[in-house]
Amino acid sequence: MATPLDDGAFEQAVDRLVEAMVEARHCVVLTGAGISTESGIPDFRSPGVGLWERLDPMEAMSAAAFWRDPVRFYRLAAETWLPPLWQARPNVAHRVLAELEREGLVRAVITQNIDGLHQRAGSRRVLEVHGHVRSARCTRCGRPHELPDLVARLQTGEQGPYCTCGGPIKPAVVLFGDPMPPVFEEAVAEAGRADLMVVVGSSLAVDPANSLPALAQRVVVNNLEPTWVDGRAVVRLPYRASRVWGAVRQRLMARRLL
Ligand SMILES: [Zn+2]
Repeated sequence: MATPLDDGAFEQAVDRLVEAMVEARHCVVLTGAGISTESGIPDFRSPGVGLWERLDPMEAMSAAAFWRDPVRFYRLAAETWLPPLWQARPNVAHRVLAELEREGLVRAVITQNIDGLHQRAGSRRVLEVHGHVRSARCTRCGRPHELPDLVARLQTGEQGPYCTCGGPIKPAVVLFGDPMPPVFEEAVAEAGRADLMVVVGSSLAVDPANSLPALAQRVVVNNLEPTWVDGRAVVRLPYRASRVWGAVRQRLMARRLL
């Protein structure tokens, strides 16, 4: 339960976050699993959180597993990690970040999430450094496929995970063991342009996206757990993302900035 002291610290931290964003000329947001847990998506990397207790990530989400047996890979994906991603809806934190972009207070969102919730909330410049679950592509001829359609056809036995050319069709997700996609270079450039990077819901544990805050001039961290960059953060907000961004929206509306 929050004490009045906690509330005071929370209000102060939000005020400093809002100040930093209003002052910034090029604010970039970096998001991770923590922003989407409140949309019902389990953090695949958190110990004790369901999925990986039952399933080995190296088995279920690895490039090696995909290449070894695409049929088994898709069956596991359809039974475990794909449906929660498709069923999730954006929460207030995603929506406020989209509103901030429309007002010019956020220039880009770099996300480690594959759920697509930033776009669904209305964000336009979203750099998905770990890919996404909207589509898939033939690894031989490059033909694109809608991922939900493909998985539905696999489940009815209408089609295998192979293209008409015979090549295996791979989801647009960066699997364990895959190289980073070209969009990561864009994320590096955005981080380098940022005079403020706001980290939301990432413990900054996953290479190489966790190095991006090092490229920004100033950093704010909104994450429940400590991160390696906390020591140089101008503000730290160890609170749920929805609480922080709901409060940011109130402040900005009161100042007629949103
Ligand atoms: Zn093909």
